[in-house]
Amino acid sequence: MIKMMVNLKTATAELTAGNNTPAHNGFEEILQRALSLKELGLLDKAVAEYENLLKTDCPPSKIIPGMMDCLLKTQSPSKIIRKIDKVVHGLRLSALRIAQIHFVLGLENERRGHEDLALDMYRAASEADPKNKKIKEKIIRIVSKLYSGSRYDYLLRKKMVTPDQLRTALSLSKKTKQSVEYLLIEQFNIPKIEVGESLSLYYKCPFRSFDPKTAVPVELIGNLKKSFLLHDSWVPMSWGKNGVEILIDDPGDLRKTGQIRGLTKTTRIIFSVGIREDIEKYVFHFFDGKTESSAKDMITELDMIPDIDFEEEDDDLLEAEEDLLNEESSQVVRLVDQVIINAYRKNASDIHIEPSPETRKTGIRFRLDGVCQEYAQVPEHMARGILSRLKIMAGIDIAERRLPQDGKIKFRRKGVKPFELRLATIPTAGGREDAVLRVLASAGAMAFSDMGLNERNMKVMERILDQPYGMILVVGPTGSGKTTTLHSALGRINNPGIKIWTAEDPVEITQIGLRQVEAKPKIGLDFARIMRSFLRADPDVIMIGEMRDFETASIGIEASLTGHLVFSTLHTNSAPETVTRLLDMGLNPLNFSDSLLGVLAQRLLRRLCPKCKKKYHPSREEFDEIISEYGREAFKITQIEYTPDLTLYRPWKCDACSGTGYKGRMGIHELLEGTPEIKALIKKKSTSEQILKISAGQGMATLKQDGIVKAFLGLTDMDEVRRVCIN
Ligand SMILES: [Zn+2]
Repeated sequence: MIKMMVNLKTATAELTAGNNTPAHNGFEEILQRALSLKELGLLDKAVAEYENLLKTDCPPSKIIPGMMDCLLKTQSPSKIIRKIDKVVHGLRLSALRIAQIHFVLGLENERRGHEDLALDMYRAASEADPKNKKIKEKIIRIVSKLYSGSRYDYLLRKKMVTPDQLRTALSLSKKTKQSVEYLLIEQFNIPKIEVGESLSLYYKCPFRSFDPKTAVPVELIGNLKKSFLLHDSWVPMSWGKNGVEILIDDPGDLRKTGQIRGLTKTTRIIFSVGIREDIEKYVFHFFDGKTESSAKDMITELDMIPDIDFEEEDDDLLEAEEDLLNEESSQVVRLVDQVIINAYRKNASDIHIEPSPETRKTGIRFRLDGVCQEYAQVPEHMARGILSRLKIMAGIDIAERRLPQDGKIKFRRKGVKPFELRLATIPTAGGREDAVLRVLASAGAMAFSDMGLNERNMKVMERILDQPYGMILVVGPTGSGKTTTLHSALGRINNPGIKIWTAEDPVEITQIGLRQVEAKPKIGLDFARIMRSFLRADPDVIMIGEMRDFETASIGIEASLTGHLVFSTLHTNSAPETVTRLLDMGLNPLNFSDSLLGVLAQRLLRRLCPKCKKKYHPSREEFDEIISEYGREAFKITQIEYTPDLTLYRPWKCDACSGTGYKGRMGIHELLEGTPEIKALIKKKSTSEQILKISAGQGMATLKQDGIVKAFLGLTDMDEVRRVCIN
């Protein structure tokens, strides 16, 4: 008895000491009995006595510990709490006594290491006895203890949230059924990015918030129920080379993650963490968004290829499977559709299909913003099926595997805007075949003012476009945006008063008002031939896709000298070089110099993501290096000086840019104007160096110089400028 009393001298004694408990209304006897029964091992009977004690005025600190000792032999702590709770509620005790019982239950659970249960009990106690400071202190202490090393640890450590606020958010969360994270953001004004950081640090995976621009992963949601995803708070986001990305509110929940692995039929899962409300938004977006019909229709049509095997195949299986996987295989058909749709949705310009004998995989890469990125890998043996399928779609010879072929695919699927792809197949080493698809997304023309021309170039360009006749050339390698620029320029002059003919291969951009002809060299309809027919078809403006040869170029010049405005492109690296290239082709220097209005050389480079780009102050050395790349003397014109607040930007990563640090592209330009001095140089067949020197004196910036200025403006970084401007 004495021993027990000592044991029971816990913090509770203090709590209950203030209460005027009427001494000895018989509980000592019952307590003694309970204790004896407990020591004898008659636990059920002991528990019954303890229950009786709850009805008396016996302090809970004398009842609960012993009662728990007995019950713990057979039950879990959470069950015990429920049991005791039930008893308590059946007894119609005063609020204060209920608070005392809950408080002692809290202490006992905390002592035994069940801190989450303890917190629940303290909260229940506080509810019944809201003014009790001791209970509140206990809650704050346990919350900060419980949530250090928790998903809120970072927020607590950075003092962005106090344990008290967190406690409030937790209990509010239970009432409102909103997530704690959501409440922290909405009610406590904690920046979402910080909440995300906290989750990301705790779960060691990326945080992702809702972005309405996210493409619907049709192939992944096909087999899943909306209500199920909403209930379990996770959603598949995308399917890439590393596997399937799943956004979930708690990546540490093994029950859910195990279930997800089962459902997606792959072990390659990358989890990212999000707040529950964002996950719900994604679910609604994916299932009910604007793309609703498309998603649903496509699910029935495409299903998914959920069981694509990412694992290595056994050797002897290969041959047998290859037979199965002919072009009729629905799996291949679906895979090809999926890849194309995904590329289209991601705004990829090209799809590369590359079977490799070394890795025994077929790599699929997308070109996004001008840079190839790995998209997925499928088993090597699927390559032949994929190639055959593509050939069938493009209507080219399926049996020809030893020679390159090209064709066009008109891609029409429910829920996707119809678009075209150009297919090129190329036999590669080891009897394999690669395929490259160019996505010809039919876009409208870009506004002239959005071209990213600097002030000088804009002025000169406008002056050139106002001319009634002459030749305007846009030059650069494949993929430098020449067609976009030409259409943007045509868009500026396009009006009902003039007739504009274009010859393109293929027609990638359409504009109302333009009459556009697609070249078909296979049947002899090449640029030169189209040009000649244009001249008989009353044109004011002619755009010719490319001046590939002497014939096309000379017809172009002829047309420009007979009163037409002629636009074309060339695959040359710089504006001055274009002049010498055309002269080398054998064009008449006098005619050419008369006709030339201007040459715009251009490159596309990636724009820094405006959401996450990081400002920094370059070192003196870095600055000097950039100046020497620009040309020390010429740099003065930029009026950029090395001051302490001079800044450049570097890429970082965020959701908006899928972690690449770049978003979208922009042009850099080198615009050579056909001034009288330049025309004189052309007549003399001068070198491109001489032309560069004079035009630089007249205000022309080179591609690299234009890029450097744009880097100082924070639009891009020097790595990008150097990448696209190889000297
Ligand atoms: Zn970003």
